[in-house]
Amino acid sequence: MKTQVVIVGAGPAGLLLSEILHRHGVESIVLERSSREHVLARIRAGVLESTTVDVLRENGLSTRMDVEGHPHDGMRIAWAGRDSFLVDTYQTLGRRFMVYGQTAIQEDLFAAADRRGQAVLTEVSDVLLHQHDGAPGAKPYVTYVRDGQAGRIDCDFIAGCDGFHGVSRRSIPEAVRREYEKVYPFGWLGVMARVKPLPDITYVNNPRGFALASYRNQQLSRFYIQVPLDHKVEDWPDDRFWPELKARFPAEMAAAITETDTIEKSIAPLRSFVSEPMRYGALFLCGDAAHIVPPTGAKGLNLAVSDVYYLSKALARWYRSGDAVWLDGYSATALRRVWSSVRTSWYLTTLLHRFPDTSEFDQKAQEYELDYLKHSARAQAALAEQYAGLALEKAD
Ligand SMILES: Cc1cc2nc3c(=O)[nH]c(=O)nc-3n(C[C@H](O)[C@H](O)[C@H](O)COP(=O)(O)OP(=O)(O)OC[C@H]3O[C@@H](n4cnc5c(N)ncnc54)[C@H](O)[C@@H]3O)c2cc1C
Repeated sequence: MKTQVVIVGAGPAGLLLSEILHRHGVESIVLERSSREHVLARIRAGVLESTTVDVLRENGLSTRMDVEGHPHDGMRIAWAGRDSFLVDTYQTLGRRFMVYGQTAIQEDLFAAADRRGQAVLTEVSDVLLHQHDGAPGAKPYVTYVRDGQAGRIDCDFIAGCDGFHGVSRRSIPEAVRREYEKVYPFGWLGVMARVKPLPDITYVNNPRGFALASYRNQQLSRFYIQVPLDHKVEDWPDDRFWPELKARFPAEMAAAITETDTIEKSIAPLRSFVSEPMRYGALFLCGDAAHIVPPTGAKGLNLAVSDVYYLSKALARWYRSGDAVWLDGYSATALRRVWSSVRTSWYLTTLLHRFPDTSEFDQKAQEYELDYLKHSARAQAALAEQYAGLALEKAD
């Protein structure tokens, strides 16, 4: 087979890239390791920055989101024994978030791919990238196995959208790659429950550990608590989870949380990770393939979308006019936004969690930083700007 761009991975980054490229008349084939059912069953992100909402709207992917999504205006922060405060991105910047699940975005992207007859080859294995180093005369191609048959796709470019554990990043030689990593000494236990959410997405700093109340819609809440890294889901039956969650929230908020049977429970480790550069010859990395953020601040999915925005514009320009200037600038442009969000999610994680070596001094310092944030309009405005994410650099 032959196409212009091979996209490895049919997560949000891969499918969104294929959609935008199609709108610019650029052909692609998507290769996905898992089944479509598996990809659609993953419960992950749910909070979209206004930039992500804009990209989805500009590309005809917002019909369902605009009906079922819930706009919201920022994050509430509470800490032990004090009143909470709202970091209001709408009042500060005129930018609203949208609560709309990643699962729904995946459904919308698969539906759009079906409508246009997009080639998405699922359940492929042994994906390997070849001649992607950009050497003169190199002709990139990708090989894979599907249904026991070996396949090969010749192409101009390869987009590595295959997440943290994919093959693309590892196809950049170690001598070229520079990796920056911070692994946090705790994880998040997340549950989904069919109960009315709190009025605001609320982050809590508590000496017992961090907690978060988020949601997917007005009947579906998502709650998280910080747990030690060696804990397993089985360690947290519902009758242990709910009292611990409520103990971390201020009393009046805890009273508003309804306990019920949880419908999903998982534990995710927390990590900050960036691999540079995001381009190697004909290979371009997007999303979790190049960077991971802890979920504090809900940046992961949003960064995948901004990478795709920059790469799709650059590829469209190259195919339109042969001008490689945006392709050449892709890594630096994408990394500016990546590092801004990596820094913000690291800052929020550090501010809101209890680390194993947190001393009483450290806890006091965190609490007085929160007190400063609460009482300083300027500090809140700065945090609102970081939480909302950098505006996309509009290139045309
Ligand atoms: C449990 C969990 C909770 C999260 N919660 C949040 C949140 O609340 N807010 C937020 O913003 N972000 C969150 N994230 C992060 C967010 O989900 C990711 O940033 C987002 O999915 C990135 O999209 P992606 O397309 O880059 O990668 P992925 O969604 O990981 O997609 C990569 C795709 O590539 C496929 N693949 C992998 N290897 C290969 C291969 N060799 N060949 C072919 N295909 C391959 C995978 O099967 C997958 O479908 C969470 C992530 C996890 C895991």
